[in-house]
Amino acid sequence: MRVSWSLGHWVPVLRRLPQAGRVIALTIDDAPTPDATPAMLDLLDRFQAKATFFLSGCRAEPQLDLVEDIIRRGHQVYAHGWDHVRLDKAGPARLIADMERCEALLARFRPTPHPYIVRLPQNGGYRNGVVHRALARWQPGCQFAHWGASTEDHLISPRCTRPEDVEPECRKEVERLLAAPHLPGAIVLMHDQPINERPGAEYKAAVSVTLTRLLLEGLSAGGYSFAPIAPLPAQPWWSRFILF
Ligand SMILES: [Zn+2]
Repeated sequence: MRVSWSLGHWVPVLRRLPQAGRVIALTIDDAPTPDATPAMLDLLDRFQAKATFFLSGCRAEPQLDLVEDIIRRGHQVYAHGWDHVRLDKAGPARLIADMERCEALLARFRPTPHPYIVRLPQNGGYRNGVVHRALARWQPGCQFAHWGASTEDHLISPRCTRPEDVEPECRKEVERLLAAPHLPGAIVLMHDQPINERPGAEYKAAVSVTLTRLLLEGLSAGGYSFAPIAPLPAQPWWSRFILF
């Protein structure tokens, strides 16, 4: 197990929900996109699933109606930066400027949540003390959203060469995830068309929608319910010094 130390600067890093039982926190990064978000929202509604979205400002700004729709349907939204760059490597000033710019946009549609839940592009900085300190100055009490299980959906569209490949490739990842022993209570990572330069970009929207459908079907059939990320109510003192 990896252990990182700091002089008391770690904010909580969440991977699981605090409650026991067959409940899952779906987290959707890089949203919104006009050709996937509406269908994903309809699927979430159909399975009565409330999710947590980490929105990219550069995608949200031209799609404000989608931002509003995500919130109106009862999902939680947090900033995922403005441009999808490694903010943990960009320096604290750029990190906070990007997060604040995106949050200012989201705050037009809902009050800024406290405690704030953070996930940076490519999950950067979750073991970086400088990043934790900068974020805690920006949003006191903030917590990192890591995950306990990943759909690995950013690797699906590069494997697709024909539209018929989408469903079986998504099904493979969903079946792998459903078999994970630590799945109950996990925060699950998925994307609304992951922002990257990989091949297969023309299949990204279909992958995001298909994966959402198969995942919701599989989890529901397995008796799971869905909840947004729940922040830790209190941070144990030692966890400010030791990060597992
Ligand atoms: Zn991202």
